[in-house]
Amino acid sequence: MNEIYIVGIGPGGISDMTPRAVAAIDHCDVICGYDRYIDLLGEMAADKQVIKNGMRGEVKRCQSAISLARDGHSVAVVCSGDAGIYGMAGLIHEMLSDDTSIRTEVVPGITAAISGAALLGAPLMNDFAVISLSDQLTPWDRIEKRVAAVAAADMVVVFYNPMSHHRPDTLKRACEILLESRPEDTVCGWVKNIGRDGQKISILTLGELKDTGLDMLCTVFIGASDTKNLNGRMVTVRGYDI
Ligand code: SAH
Repeated sequence: MNEIYIVGIGPGGISDMTPRAVAAIDHCDVICGYDRYIDLLGEMAADKQVIKNGMRGEVKRCQSAISLARDGHSVAVVCSGDAGIYGMAGLIHEMLSDDTSIRTEVVPGITAAISGAALLGAPLMNDFAVISLSDQLTPWDRIEKRVAAVAAADMVVVFYNPMSHHRPDTLKRACEILLESRPEDTVCGWVKNIGRDGQKISILTLGELKDTGLDMLCTVFIGASDTKNLNGRMVTVRGYDI
C-alpha cells in the first residue's frame, strides 16, 4: 500500500514490544532490518518477505524498503529500542524528503536507556543526557566535547555504543574526561543484552568502569552527585523528605 512503518521493537523479547509495534509488523507484508533484530521477531516474521542485512548496511536496507514501498508493498523497517534514537527513522525521512508518494509512520519503542534503567534501579529520576560513543558518523572530537559538557553539568549520562571496532578505547577515554569533573567513586552501571539471552547487569564506580572493557551490546550509565548505590540498586535521589 505504498507505506513504510519505521518500528521500534524494544530491547529484546516480544513482551517489551508495544501492542502498536506488534500490530504494525502484523499489518505489513515486508519486513526489513538488521539480521539480529529480524531473528528476535521469531514467528512474527514467518509469513513475510524478509529483507535483512548486517551492520553498516543501513543505507542499502532503507533503499530496499523505499523501493518495495514504491512497488505497492506495506513495509516495516524494524529497529531495536526506539526507531528515532540512533535508528532508521531519520534516514528514511531524509531519503524521502522529495517524495510524498509513500506514507510513513514512526512507531516508538522502549529505548535501551529506559529498559536498562529499569534493570539497574532508578538512575534516571532527574535530568539526564544520552550520548553515543560511536564515531562512525560523528567525529570523535565532537563526541569528546559533548562528554566534557555533560560531565561539567553534573547530570546522569547514558552512553550508547560504548565500543567501536576501530577505536576500542572510547569508553576509557570518555571515563577519563568524566573524571576531570567527577570523583572516582561516582556510582555507575552497565547493562548487557537487555531483555535477551545473556542479560547481565553491574553497578560499579567510575574508577572501576574506566578499566572495564564493554562491547556494543552494552549500555552504560554514569551517575551524578545525587546518584547512589542503595543496596545494589542504582538510584538518583530527587530530594524527597522521607
Ligand atoms: N535504537 C536503539 C539504539 C541503537 S544504537 C535504542 O533505542 O535502544 C545501538 C546501541 O544501543 C548499543 O550499542 C547499546 O548501547 C544500545 N542497546 C540497544 N539494545 C540494547 C540491549 N538490548 N541491551 C543493551 N544495550 C542495548
